[in-house]
Amino acid sequence: MSGAFKISVAKMDFGVAEELTRKVHDVVIVGGGPAGMSAAIYAARYGLDAVIITEEVGGQVGKAGWVENYLGYTRIMGPGLAKKFEEHVKSYNVPIVIDSVVDVKRYGELFKVYTLNGDEYTGRTVIISVGTKRRKLNVPGEDAYSGRGVSYCAACDAPLFKGKVVAVVGGGDSAAQSALLLAEYANKVYIIHRRNQLRAQKHYQDLLLRNPKIEIIWNTVVKELRGDRLLRKVVLQRVDTNEVFEMPVDGLFVEIGAEPPVDLFKRIGLDLSQDGYIRVNHLMETSIPGIYAAGDCVDLAPRDFRQIVVAAAQGALAAYSAYNYIIKKFGLIRGKDAYEARPKSELYES
Ligand SMILES: Cc1cc2nc3c(=O)[nH]c(=O)nc-3n(C[C@H](O)[C@H](O)[C@H](O)COP(=O)(O)OP(=O)(O)OC[C@H]3O[C@@H](n4cnc5c(N)ncnc54)[C@H](O)[C@@H]3O)c2cc1C
Repeated sequence: MSGAFKISVAKMDFGVAEELTRKVHDVVIVGGGPAGMSAAIYAARYGLDAVIITEEVGGQVGKAGWVENYLGYTRIMGPGLAKKFEEHVKSYNVPIVIDSVVDVKRYGELFKVYTLNGDEYTGRTVIISVGTKRRKLNVPGEDAYSGRGVSYCAACDAPLFKGKVVAVVGGGDSAAQSALLLAEYANKVYIIHRRNQLRAQKHYQDLLLRNPKIEIIWNTVVKELRGDRLLRKVVLQRVDTNEVFEMPVDGLFVEIGAEPPVDLFKRIGLDLSQDGYIRVNHLMETSIPGIYAAGDCVDLAPRDFRQIVVAAAQGALAAYSAYNYIIKKFGLIRGKDAYEARPKSELYES
């Protein structure tokens, strides 16, 4: 994806980089998935100066297959929807910096946001919307065949497996979605699942069972990946009988869930749930005043209901709360549209 407002740190024009790190932003948004992108749009409409720092634009949406449950789009490929989000953010001139945030620290009344690239961004508020990271199988051969048959993104790699035999590991919505997408290209798609029933929504389960190319291998786990230069077979083990067997495959798609970047959250000093998600209230306020969190990384929606629409809504709320914090603490509304963009309730109160 390209565009004047997406700035890769490696290629960043020094003047632009310096400008973004020199100024005090109203909101520094960490993570550019649906939560962060939605926060950016609302922040801009409140007249706030926002910047997004993200490892990649679009987040998990860019890796999703067919998305059929996001309002306004009957059916759209994940990367296409991510592109729409980016275009929307660009229309509000919010800069998107490609970098990884490694820490956030209080700095007087402000916050310093530190990145892997060694840059520091200053914000009156920070919105953390870093989502979750994909779990790996952690079996022998996984790293060696990553990109040589092993993939974590069906939407990115499915066309590479036209006419081939592939397997998807997992039993949730992502696994189901990946299998359905892969079946549009591959000759045969196995789903390897460690339980005897799927967690995926009923809608997906029906589609899977009706698809003649898809076969589910129940009660089975992956033990090892083998091949030559490329992945050739998976070693599987049945959990009920302990039987070990090999299955030839050209591709293996790992869809076994995700976990939040707990180390980063601990470094920042955020209050976390037992399993490492950021504790927030209904206004997306974290335990640190001025820091908000939204999307898959928060301890709010049920773990099995992490959806684009939820993340986008929480991002919007986080921007709303950041705006109110800034008004209260710093007493300023900036930008020509700021007044018009204020929520109606506030306009009536003032
Ligand atoms: C295969 C798949 C299919 C899916 N299909 C659907 C679907 O059909 N419908 C639906 O509603 N939902 C679907 N989802 C779920 C949906 O994509 C997520 O709920 C949603 O993307 C969460 O948004 P988010 O902004 O919270 O996090 P993410 O989308 O995960 O975005 C987080 C962003 O933060 C960045 N980031 C992470 N760490 C850092 C850091 N330290 N510094 C800077 N940036 C960082 C990441 O690079 C990423 O861009 C799917 C998910 C997957 C994986």
